[in-house]
Amino acid sequence: MVIISKRLKRIADKILPDSKLADIGSDHALLPTYLAQKNQIQLAIAGEVNKGPYEAAKKQVENSNLQHKIKVRLGNGLEVLDKEEVDTIVIAGMGGGLITNILNQPFDYTGVNRLVLQPNVAEDKVRRWCIENQWKLIEEDILEEDRKIYEILVAERSEEAYEFNQQIFANVMHRLDCNIQLTRKLKILMGPHLINRPTAVFIKKWNMEIAKREKVIEQLSQSNLEEAVQKKHEFSLEVEQLKEVLKCLQRDKQ
Ligand code: SAM
Repeated sequence: MVIISKRLKRIADKILPDSKLADIGSDHALLPTYLAQKNQIQLAIAGEVNKGPYEAAKKQVENSNLQHKIKVRLGNGLEVLDKEEVDTIVIAGMGGGLITNILNQPFDYTGVNRLVLQPNVAEDKVRRWCIENQWKLIEEDILEEDRKIYEILVAERSEEAYEFNQQIFANVMHRLDCNIQLTRKLKILMGPHLINRPTAVFIKKWNMEIAKREKVIEQLSQSNLEEAVQKKHEFSLEVEQLKEVLKCLQRDKQ
């Protein structure tokens, strides 16, 4: 049985039994191999744009004798997939910008009803893409491994995505007794589900993010350029809001 990281294991947990899976940017094809070995998927397509990882994925699948279940294909993003071939797409371990570029490729999503996305940075870009493209943001998860914090977003295709997402965003912090008006931008930045179920890792992440922003504010303070002053103002407002949210969430946890 192939050994996978805690992050990949958590991603694997989001794949429904019997799925037809595409793992785009599969690298060593660890995720599809793990899922196939556990008999959790019908089939998988492991896509890779780079020759090295593509060869590594092929070797992994061959060594595991899983060629009948996992096809490894060389190509850019979703272009490796045929129409209605898969029902679930995973894109993990890349920046949010690259993930949304891949999702924006000309592609017929017919038959695809689940996306499992794990951006390493710029999670807000991925959330925004889901909302703007009629995918229900049904789940958000966060974990720490080797001193890195990762978020996993799960989206489902649905005709009612607009109403569903409106509801999710309207209900952020609803049950908390805090008088804060969170902007939509901040909700997209932090994640509506994660704000509503804050874990210790989530609180840690945002304390670290506040510290990063405070460092930038300090650097910007050394410039009188209008752009720098404007940026400093924006960051300061964001930090103020983030601190308020954390204060409220931490008070709620006590
Ligand atoms: N998905 C695996 C994971 O989460 O552990 C591997 C992540 S690895 C850091 C990113 C992989 O994505 C690399 O192997 C890279 O070659 C591949 N990649 C980057 N852009 C891609 C694209 N447009 N299409 C397919 N693969 C891509």
